[in-house]
Formats: sequence, C-alpha cells, structure tokens
Amino acid sequence: MCCDPAVCSQDDPCRHSPVLLRSLAKPQLHPLRVLPDSHLLLCSDILFKIMKLGVCSHFSAAHKLPKHAGKCKQLHGHTYKVEIVVEGEKDKETECIVDFSEVKALLDEVLEHLDHKYLNDVISYPTSENIAEFIWEELEGKVEGIGVKLKSVKVWEGEGKWVMLEK
Ligand SMILES: [Zn+2]
Repeated sequence: MCCDPAVCSQDDPCRHSPVLLRSLAKPQLHPLRVLPDSHLLLCSDILFKIMKLGVCSHFSAAHKLPKHAGKCKQLHGHTYKVEIVVEGEKDKETECIVDFSEVKALLDEVLEHLDHKYLNDVISYPTSENIAEFIWEELEGKVEGIGVKLKSVKVWEGEGKWVMLEK
C-alpha cells in the first residue's frame, strides 16, 4: 500500500512528478519513516536524484548608502562573497546534476556587472539585500538554461554579515 493513494497508485507507484516527490520527501508532510519498505525501494531511484548544488564566488566594489544612519552613508568598499544554490535531478549518464564549473561560470558572468564598479551606478540603492535581488534576477534564467533551478542567493558583505534570498 502506498503512502498517498491520491498521488501514487499501486499499479504504477513511481510515476510521481518531481514536485510531488519533493513534497513526499519533506518529513513534516510525509515522514519517510512511515513509508513501507517496499515503497521506499520502488521510489528511491527517483527520490534521491533531486539534489542541491552550490558554488561560491567573490567580487569587490564600492558603494554608499545615503539613508544609512552610520558610516555606510560615506563612500566605501567591500569584498563581497556570493554563494548560490541550484536544484536539479541527477543525470543518469553523468551521475551529476550539472557541472560545477558551468554554474560558477554563469555566476561569474553576472558578477562581472558588479566587480570593481561603483555599485550605485548599477543598482539604484545597493544594499546587500538589493545586490542579492539583482544577482537573482540576472542569474535565474541563465541557470534554467543549463537545466537547474535557482534556490538561493547569499551575499556576504565582508566577514560575518550576510543576507540570503531563497525560493
Ligand atoms: Zn557597505
């Protein structure tokens, strides 16, 4: 017997869409421990191919934030670290989701718009939050072009301070 007859028939128990499989994999919705062993064996082939992969890169830039109460209203600079996470299915042939270097190249392509720039010329008010949104907007379509979905963009402003945008 299957965990959820609405989405998984006994005749064909492994025909879930990736979306349904993701929801099945969320412990709060369908704890895996309650699935019968037979179902796990039948579906494990699909369940464990949906994975996340991340890459990091850096850029250096100047900005000023006139609305900031402190020093950040003055012109100053940072070396920013950016980490992105994408999600996709493991390819049967390559046994990878996607090549790390392809994802890194796309991220670096976007960061070229920011590296060694005066950020206020590129983003109207370049807080880390707005930088993360800019990277998301520039990158989302690019990573979809190589078959993966953008799941998060995390931007560190120097050491120990970061913002994260996720979907
Ligand atoms: Zn700053």
